[in-house]
Amino acid sequence: MYVGGKWLDASNGRTLNSVNPYTQKVWATVPDATADDVNAAIVAARDAFDHGPWNATTPQQRAAMMRRLADLIARDAEKMARIESTDNGKLLKEMVAQWRYMPEWFHYYAGQATQGWGEVLPSDKPNFVAFTRKEPIGVVAAITPWNSPVLLMIWKLAPVLAAGCTFIVKPSEHTPVSTLAFAKLVEEAGIPPGVFNVLTGGPDIGRQLVADPRIDKIAFTGSDGVGRAIARAAAENFTRVSLELGGKSPQIVFDDCDPAAAANGILSGIFAATGQTCMAGSRLIVQRTIHNEIVRRLLERVKTIRLGDPMDPQTEMGPAATEPQFQKVLAMVKAARAEGATVAYGGEQAPQGGFFVMPTILTGITNDMTIARDEVFGPVLSVLTFDTEEEAIRIANDTRYGLAAGIWTLNLQRAHRVVAKVRAGSVWVNAYRTFGPYAPFGGFKHSGIGRENGHEGMAEYLETKSVWIELSGNLRDPFTIG
Ligand code: NAD
Repeated sequence: MYVGGKWLDASNGRTLNSVNPYTQKVWATVPDATADDVNAAIVAARDAFDHGPWNATTPQQRAAMMRRLADLIARDAEKMARIESTDNGKLLKEMVAQWRYMPEWFHYYAGQATQGWGEVLPSDKPNFVAFTRKEPIGVVAAITPWNSPVLLMIWKLAPVLAAGCTFIVKPSEHTPVSTLAFAKLVEEAGIPPGVFNVLTGGPDIGRQLVADPRIDKIAFTGSDGVGRAIARAAAENFTRVSLELGGKSPQIVFDDCDPAAAANGILSGIFAATGQTCMAGSRLIVQRTIHNEIVRRLLERVKTIRLGDPMDPQTEMGPAATEPQFQKVLAMVKAARAEGATVAYGGEQAPQGGFFVMPTILTGITNDMTIARDEVFGPVLSVLTFDTEEEAIRIANDTRYGLAAGIWTLNLQRAHRVVAKVRAGSVWVNAYRTFGPYAPFGGFKHSGIGRENGHEGMAEYLETKSVWIELSGNLRDPFTIG
């Protein structure tokens, strides 16, 4: 592990294995952190924040380090993508694209660091000047999931470094390797010891971090169940929390759409990354008049999706990332069948065996079925129908989640009307799954609290201080203030 600028084993020497989901074989062994190791990381991060040299850096110095880190990520993108793909089974070409894009987060937030924050306030008291200072929130603990371990970490780390905070990350026990490899780049970029720390281990490490009063902020990406447990634990110390949780995102397709584009967007929304993305467009809500055409197009293409080795550039869909995830997907399809769903395609283990699930399309779904309400986190599309725009919006919003939505229509007025009414943190019109460092990302309702990326992502790591300075030097009467 990387703690206080040193590479450490667990204090009791224990390790945990990371399994390659394609071969189902252990391919790496990492330390399994102890409570003492967690403590050491907190001490290191606290010390770097409270005593420096980090807290004495200028924004320009931090920005320069961030740009160096960006260049190192660009240099090693292919190598790092290969590590990550081996760890979580996602397609190498997708991971390479992610890694090549990651430097942009550090460039964007290096820019934010040097923009200056805070404002001079319009004081109505002539003998006072009033202004705000934006100050780093302190020590940040990040807890990340297995689907895009480093991308989802840097959405936190880049603004953390810009703000001048320090950072401890605990990646998922299923995919710890790429975050450790990333720490090598942080070290090479010259970021001082204690500013960035990696602990590897399971949920206990996360629980300990979350309960520790020396942590100022928790930034979590993962399931809503764990998010709820974290919010509860954080309440004890009023630790600041941002949560990026799950989704059951609708793809609303009107009969005035471009059907070929809609079919492509729907397929990539649910089958890219084997459906293991928080923003997966898992509920297709399609106007009855175009239902058959859209389903026909989907079936034509889904049959040709190439499953296989994530490292093979021809592969379009890899395996589920873990055995429990594989089992969960099949169990949810079985339960959907029992509730009356029709399996239009897939629904079973793929001929490749292992953790491969066939891309699955379920028709005849109504929004009260469990498959339409709970997140699958796998390649399963549920198809629902509607007749009117109002009904489409009602079904789209009838969910406890609110992470994302897709709207497919060539009618501009309709697009704007529906954009405004859908309760979700990201909405795409005639597209799906685009994102960038400048665009806030996060959820309404149970999909989370707070935003990552953009100015709002920066604000998550800053405290605001209002400052009043008396100018006359003649404050004599204690009862005339205010
Ligand atoms: P998970 O919630 O099971 O685990 C996430 C992390 O939390 C892991 O590192 C785990 O070790 C840790 N953890 C588990 N219990 C904990 C506890 N009680 N206290 C502290 N930490 C604990 O999620 P997962 O299965 O790794 O990832 C899949 C989930 O992540 C899905 O629900 C998905 O929607 C969500 N996700 C959300 C986003 C987003 O940006 N909104 C992005 C990707 C994934």
